[in-house]
Amino acid sequence: MHQRLLLIGGGHAQLSVLRALARARPPGLETILVTPSVWQIYSGMLPGWMAGHYAAEQCRIDLRPWCEKAQVHLVEDAVCALDAHQRCATTEGGRRLEYDLTSIDVGGVPKTTPLAAAGDRLLPIKPLERFVAAWPHVLERARSTPGFRLAVVGAGAAGVELALAAAHAFRIQGARAEVWLVAGSSGILPGHAPGVRQRAARQLQRAGVTVQLQRAAGHPQGVQLASGEIVQAHVVLAAPGTGAPSWLLASGLLLDTEGFILVDAYHRSVSHPDVFAAGDVCSREDAPLARSGVHAVRAGPVLARNLMAVLSGRPLTTYTPRRRSLYLLACGDRYAIVSWGRVSLEGRWAWRWKDWIDRRFIERFTGNGKSA
Ligand SMILES: Cc1cc2nc3c(=O)[nH]c(=O)nc-3n(C[C@H](O)[C@H](O)[C@H](O)COP(=O)(O)OP(=O)(O)OC[C@H]3O[C@@H](n4cnc5c(N)ncnc54)[C@H](O)[C@@H]3O)c2cc1C
Repeated sequence: MHQRLLLIGGGHAQLSVLRALARARPPGLETILVTPSVWQIYSGMLPGWMAGHYAAEQCRIDLRPWCEKAQVHLVEDAVCALDAHQRCATTEGGRRLEYDLTSIDVGGVPKTTPLAAAGDRLLPIKPLERFVAAWPHVLERARSTPGFRLAVVGAGAAGVELALAAAHAFRIQGARAEVWLVAGSSGILPGHAPGVRQRAARQLQRAGVTVQLQRAAGHPQGVQLASGEIVQAHVVLAAPGTGAPSWLLASGLLLDTEGFILVDAYHRSVSHPDVFAAGDVCSREDAPLARSGVHAVRAGPVLARNLMAVLSGRPLTTYTPRRRSLYLLACGDRYAIVSWGRVSLEGRWAWRWKDWIDRRFIERFTGNGKSA
């Protein structure tokens, strides 16, 4: 029987779907992957790239060989609307893509609305391709502009790593530039153990990063703190919380209160059984899941198995997250902090461990899909 599988977004979980299709394709299946870039950039290595430890090619996965091997038609475009009742997605380029089964892994969008007044100075961390293209220019400006200041807004794991990576990059490039980290009133690394937060605070201090524990709004000169103080910044690097893509609102899918796709333990939409979702774009109805790459990666094989199961009428499998997730936070200079539940550790060995894990992840998906 002819069936149409539409993969929306080439995110971390979707990589497992491509790999499963490359291994074994159900007969009569027509598959399309729609994603804005042929490259999937691995966010875990992005701070290391900024700090000069990796070349850009080492931190990204080329989706083309996988699509070729899996006989998936790759469409370089972005979905801007979904009609879950009609089973049809529309792209920015005006394509109408109908499906029998769809898998959504488009990640989230940074909540930059409160920072909009920063105008041209605003540099959101996502889309990652845009950030990667812009960062070398930021470095160049930092080198050539006396008194250059970068304000990083958002002090979750991404914001802390970005601030430390930027400070390291400026230092090794000889840029006499300042880095500020605007953390908001809940402080740095909310949700991590006190020991992790203390270690990160020490690393930020050692790197000369100025930390502000106040909410910030965008301002034409940089950012304005809750106290009214204006922090002049040439570039405002936005890594605030993750929001849901706005096009989901009119999709007809049941969403959570923040607009993320509500899924069950099989990562299947609770309202539309022909829609699956994984990664930052979804919320589990049965258990809160942190929006982190760890879950996007781990849910991937379950997502792949379940899509194949639906296509062949087999039973579905649940994704059971581990009770604690391991986070290895890069501190700029080949040094990392370990955060695992209440456990916190740090050292150069932790960086080597992170480097090994990250390279291994990339290697699984590089080399023309040979590892399939
Ligand atoms: C600097 C940084 C460091 C981080 N470090 C870590 C870490 O060490 N550990 C960790 O667990 N988490 C980390 N994170 C968080 C992690 O990046 C995310 O949780 C993870 O990327 C989510 O994966 P995903 O598959 O949901 O989405 P993504 O990885 O964002 O992939 C989504 C894909 O969908 C595509 N897409 C987007 N919109 C559309 C559309 N409309 N139509 C079609 N395709 C679309 C995108 O181009 C992209 O290819 C970090 C984040 C940042 C920014």
